[in-house]
Amino acid sequence: MRSAESIQKQKETLAANKAREIERQKKREDRKLARTVGLRTPIPPAPTRSAALVIDVDWNGLPMQDAKNLYSELQRQYEAAGKILNARAMTEGTSEFYECFMAGKDKCCPKGNKYRMPPRGQDYENGAKDPRTGLITPVRVCGENCWIRYQDLLIKQRRERFLGEGN
Ligand SMILES: [Zn+2]
Repeated sequence: MRSAESIQKQKETLAANKAREIERQKKREDRKLARTVGLRTPIPPAPTRSAALVIDVDWNGLPMQDAKNLYSELQRQYEAAGKILNARAMTEGTSEFYECFMAGKDKCCPKGNKYRMPPRGQDYENGAKDPRTGLITPVRVCGENCWIRYQDLLIKQRRERFLGEGN
């Protein structure tokens, strides 16, 4: 007869084995993804902000005016998100052409070229926003060389902003 303790122990061992197997599987997939990314679609993550949504509101206790303001802010955010995501869904995966943001800049590709989608890199964070619709046209960059120079440009701009704030 096996004791309850030994059965419990066996369960724990099985669970631990399973967790390890899941972990190994995940690593295998990550490695595979890294290889795929390296070979075919070398699109590194564009500069992004992390996102978090924490809503913790006492809608009953909040002063009415504050509650109304908050509600309209939520609505604004919700609508903006919808527009941006729609725009992203429309532009992603289409086979239209784009112009490289870095075209004509020092040591970048020549101006006037049209490239087929998808670009080497896209940056929504610094894209042009239509003030009326809230739609964002991302910055699109054609190739490795231009992408590296674009990153340099962002760093330079950030440094200048930082210095500007310091004065
Ligand atoms: Zn380019």
